[in-house]
Amino acid sequence: MENNKNNPVEFWGLTLELLRNTLPGHAINTWFEPLVPVAISNNELVIEVPNQFSYEWIDSHYSKNLKNAIGVVSNNTIDYKFIVSAKGQKREIEEIQSFSKKQKEYVQPPVDLNKTYTFSSFIQGSNNDFAKTAAETVSEDPGKNSFSPLIIYGGVGLGKTHLIHAIGNRIHEKNPSLKVVIVTSEKFTLDFVNSLRKNRTIEFAQQYRKADVLLIDDIQFFRGKEQTQEQFFHTFNVLQQSGKQIVMTADKYPGEMKGLQDRLLSRFQSGLSVDIQPPNYEIRVAILLEKAEQNGLSVDYEIIEFIAKHIKNNVRELEGAIIRILAKSSLMNKEIDFDLVKEVVKERVGSSLLSELSIEDIVKKVSEISNVSELEIVGKSRKMEIAEARQISMFLCRDLMGLSLSNVGVYFGGRDHTTVIHAVKTIKNKIQNDERVKDQIDSVKNELDFAMG
Ligand code: ADP
Ligand code: MG
Repeated sequence: MENNKNNPVEFWGLTLELLRNTLPGHAINTWFEPLVPVAISNNELVIEVPNQFSYEWIDSHYSKNLKNAIGVVSNNTIDYKFIVSAKGQKREIEEIQSFSKKQKEYVQPPVDLNKTYTFSSFIQGSNNDFAKTAAETVSEDPGKNSFSPLIIYGGVGLGKTHLIHAIGNRIHEKNPSLKVVIVTSEKFTLDFVNSLRKNRTIEFAQQYRKADVLLIDDIQFFRGKEQTQEQFFHTFNVLQQSGKQIVMTADKYPGEMKGLQDRLLSRFQSGLSVDIQPPNYEIRVAILLEKAEQNGLSVDYEIIEFIAKHIKNNVRELEGAIIRILAKSSLMNKEIDFDLVKEVVKERVGSSLLSELSIEDIVKKVSEISNVSELEIVGKSRKMEIAEARQISMFLCRDLMGLSLSNVGVYFGGRDHTTVIHAVKTIKNKIQNDERVKDQIDSVKNELDFAMG
């Protein structure tokens, strides 16, 4: 059969003959007759499929039959590849466009949209400025900006899911006729797998391709799922080409994601990627104040500062701490005081970070390192090296224990809170500008950490 390999049409003719023997007539008529063999090389037959749907259908239902038949005709030397007819692709896109034009009436909000995740409940700070602004811009004019796809990336608990839902909520509110589809990549995968099982891949594809706005959360879970990525790639292309808005979230910068096909990643790079960073101290305080207020919890500012100092990783944990504090105080019928808060924070960060460290421990270490006696440190002398050792101790009590200004003041010779503020400021300054002080503080911290084990 060597000659067949030079002529795609002849080769395809023989393949079809074989398929007719194994498949029912309607399958041949519906799916195989419309195929056009366009090229053949030493090892590959290129077959044009009229549109995306046929491609998916044949691929999921008949790929085995097709592979076998081609194997027989070519003595297993030739494989095949599908390309989707450009015309078919265009028609598909036009259909979608005209469909969405007709769809101008009210569309139900997607049930999966979390109503509480809005822009107004999202606290903006330097860590998430850019992401929030991009998200709002996209919501103003979905699809009509150069931010498609928009990818929001960052670590866990930093507000990615919150933002992507805020986009969905805002778009639905401004323009209820737009169809917003929001899913996690896991749900997308599950839907796809189920559709394969039930022979409903076409419905699956249509459901997603009807979206005006497709929001996909946590695309890193597509990792290693080749067939799902394939599906997603086509959905992505169809939506992209018909000017629809796509927004995704990911745990990493797309360029650094492993396990995703390069062609997907390169598509992603045509849009805009924005990051969310962990909140710094000031933003953590702002978030805690806001969440406390939302939960009807009124606590001292110093307690808020203490939590912000110790819970650093992400917003979810900050929120969790507030909720735990509330729960604990109401379950145990206890006032919300420093002890209760400390208990909760300790549960959260583990006792290695927040030990039973006492002021005495700090003073003792500072004394060892500075050669100023403990008594002098807590005393009244204004001699320079003594005053400095005292200021370092005060600073550490605030920094490591989150003690209140007035408590620190009282311990160190009955001084008032302004003295403590001054001490903390002075030491912060010295840490920046004076190697010697910085080293002293580092080594006290190290030793205390070690002691905390
Ligand atoms: P991610 O998806 O990045 O893991 P989430 O969006 O699920 O994080 O955020 C975790 C929790 O923290 C949610 O309850 C969310 O509302 C809250 N949150 C995160 N960032 C902010 C923020 N900037 N302002 C208000 N709440 C936030
Ligand atoms: Mg999330």
